[in-house]
Amino acid sequence: MAKLAAVLVDLITSATNKTFTYSIPNTMKDQAVYGCKVQIPFGPRTLTGYIVPEKPEPREEVRPISAILTNSLFTREAWELARFVADKYLCHLVEALYLVLPPGINRGLSVDRRVRYVDLLLAEQEAQNLASQLANRAPAQVRILFTLLQQRPLTRQHLLKQAPAAASSLQALIDRGAVTTWIETEPLLMESKPVETIKEQPPLLTEDQSRALQPVLKALSSYRHERFLLHGVTGSGKTEVYLQVLAAALRQGRGGIVLVPEIALTPQMRERFVRRFGSKVAVLHSGLRDRERYNEWLRIEQGQARIVLGARSAIYAPLKSIGVIVLDEEHETAYKQEESPRYHAREVALWRASKQGAVVILGSATPAVDTYYRAQKGDYRLLTLPRRIAHRPLPQVKIVDMRAELLAGNRSIFSRLLQVELKKTLVAGRQAILFLNRRGYSTFVLCRRCGLVAKCPHCDLALTLHKVGRRLICHYCGYNEPQYHTCPDCGSNHHIRDFGCGTQRVVAEANRLWPQARILRLDADTSARVGATDKIITSFSRGEADILVGTQMVTKGLDIARVTLVGIISADLTLNLPDPYAAERTFQLLEQVAGRTGRGEVPGQAVLQTYTPDHFSIKAAKQHNYQAFYQQELERRRRYLYPPFTRIILVRALAAAEKTAASILNQLLALLPTEEATRIEGPAPCPFLKVGDKFRWQLIIKGANLKKIKNQLAAALPQVAAASQRVGARVTVDIDPLFYL
Ligand code: ADP
Ligand code: ZN
Ligand code: ZN
Repeated sequence: MAKLAAVLVDLITSATNKTFTYSIPNTMKDQAVYGCKVQIPFGPRTLTGYIVPEKPEPREEVRPISAILTNSLFTREAWELARFVADKYLCHLVEALYLVLPPGINRGLSVDRRVRYVDLLLAEQEAQNLASQLANRAPAQVRILFTLLQQRPLTRQHLLKQAPAAASSLQALIDRGAVTTWIETEPLLMESKPVETIKEQPPLLTEDQSRALQPVLKALSSYRHERFLLHGVTGSGKTEVYLQVLAAALRQGRGGIVLVPEIALTPQMRERFVRRFGSKVAVLHSGLRDRERYNEWLRIEQGQARIVLGARSAIYAPLKSIGVIVLDEEHETAYKQEESPRYHAREVALWRASKQGAVVILGSATPAVDTYYRAQKGDYRLLTLPRRIAHRPLPQVKIVDMRAELLAGNRSIFSRLLQVELKKTLVAGRQAILFLNRRGYSTFVLCRRCGLVAKCPHCDLALTLHKVGRRLICHYCGYNEPQYHTCPDCGSNHHIRDFGCGTQRVVAEANRLWPQARILRLDADTSARVGATDKIITSFSRGEADILVGTQMVTKGLDIARVTLVGIISADLTLNLPDPYAAERTFQLLEQVAGRTGRGEVPGQAVLQTYTPDHFSIKAAKQHNYQAFYQQELERRRRYLYPPFTRIILVRALAAAEKTAASILNQLLALLPTEEATRIEGPAPCPFLKVGDKFRWQLIIKGANLKKIKNQLAAALPQVAAASQRVGARVTVDIDPLFYL
């Protein structure tokens, strides 16, 4: 009996979200191993797929694999990783597999020089005989045989050109068992980087750093999987701790993965890693072209690079022996992918590390509330770095109440204090960062006299003004009320405004006030081109500009000694997003952006402008008091039943007509049994009802344990998939969502 193989078809449909059994023709039996990309007959079609390390189900009738297209592309561990992601996030298996494949493969990119060779299987005399048999019937096959008799083996391309013959003639000879064909892979490795001889020596660790390092090294040296939360204020030397753990992993013959939220934003970090580890570092970032990315991937796969530095997707790097995985700024939402598969790199890191007996370090000055909660429960071991290196003070944060500015007649977006401090900074020849988190969404409604923000009574979230219908709507649960022009709190009827100002306006205003200042802007618009971010950051860090204006891109990673002032134009923008994580994101942003200043000899300060100076996120940021923030936020989460006190699954339907989206979710809902312990909210319109011509509705599933309902959801989804496909609709599932907009 022919050998069987389990094949995963390269097609994202619910009908193909499983493996199929194929037979392996004898001619392929040596090459057909798991990991190979293959060509297969599928119904009336010819498709591609991957042989996977699963037991093929024996069946009555199996069709043979038609061709092997590549060598093995993934390991068993990679396949298990893909399975884990597919199971955890309810995505298609093939989508999850793409994550671990060599970059570009699924888009048909030829990433290595795959040369197909052809040789005779028959002895020369037999080949001569066959040629004379075929002489009249199949001249092309005869030409192939004679060409091979003269010179063998030949590359397929060369052979068909020399013969000349069509591919079908070659296939006929293969089917006869007269010739054989195989692939040899010649990786297109670019010239490797020169091996540096001088590597930077690590500094002597501070006492705090040594104390944090010890338990990590201990777990590492005993090959024990252990999880650490490294809670260290900005500039406390967390990165140095990572570097030393990595060095220890290298000494063991293992390697490590270091994730950063957005590698383009951290050229300084990149340099630091390369200075320390030279060509052992592979950097995976979005600025790489496909082939460069593949090149780095290959250096990792072949063991030349054992330290991987990269953004979210670097968690899938083909590093064989992992000693440590680091998530720097672990609270960053960039670790969660916003499209399918909607995985969180932290969860993937924990899974991989547990399989490898590796340590995980989650590092942050402002850990996610979920993470800190898990540390409190003992899931993570908490390590702290409470002080900055060299006892540099944390920046002094001054809060400006913008209501008072308005009362005093200052209508500028810059408070008087910020104007004074900016001027001082410019005169002293130092640098400033101005931060405004305006990504072009939601305005909110605010009373400029008393600071009241319209909020949903059920969710404690800001309501958004909808001009059509003139209503204030909760983007989370659908609650709504008529728009008002008289403040329900203070009764003022001429202070209600919706707030709106972006980074460009900040630049224009700054230009007007300080015509001499050199200003750079860093936001999604200015960094659209590959490499642009790098250029702006490098230019600013060299002192080629006085002021850097930007969105949250300026809050991450920058370590520039000459920056002594940070201006936060409006802390209210993130605070009032209709999102259960708004308070957490605000605190984190404020703390991070303030942390960009005073990293050199000169102490830094931050000026924080807000209409709600009494909010706990803002007060805690002023005092750099994570604990105060955490306690209050945790209470709020407990009260409104948000994570970590509940798990959430967000199911959405997208359709061209609003009622289609709603009806699909109602169909789905009917398939889900009601349970005491789980609450299902909706169907309700998504906060952004219409995006890209699609109407979006959603279901929110909440409960302490969602295992059972998740399985039921997985079973129900294919049933509604067919119906939604007919009407051009789509259903998405987000497990543990971080984005509600
Ligand atoms: P974090 O990652 O917590 O922001 P870093 O590791 O970047 O902190 O350290 C902040 C600064 O202090 C960096 O410029 C770094 O080179 C320096 N530094 C870190 N550890 C030490 C040390 N043990 N001795 C001297 N300088 C250090
Ligand atoms: Zn008011
Ligand atoms: Zn609500």
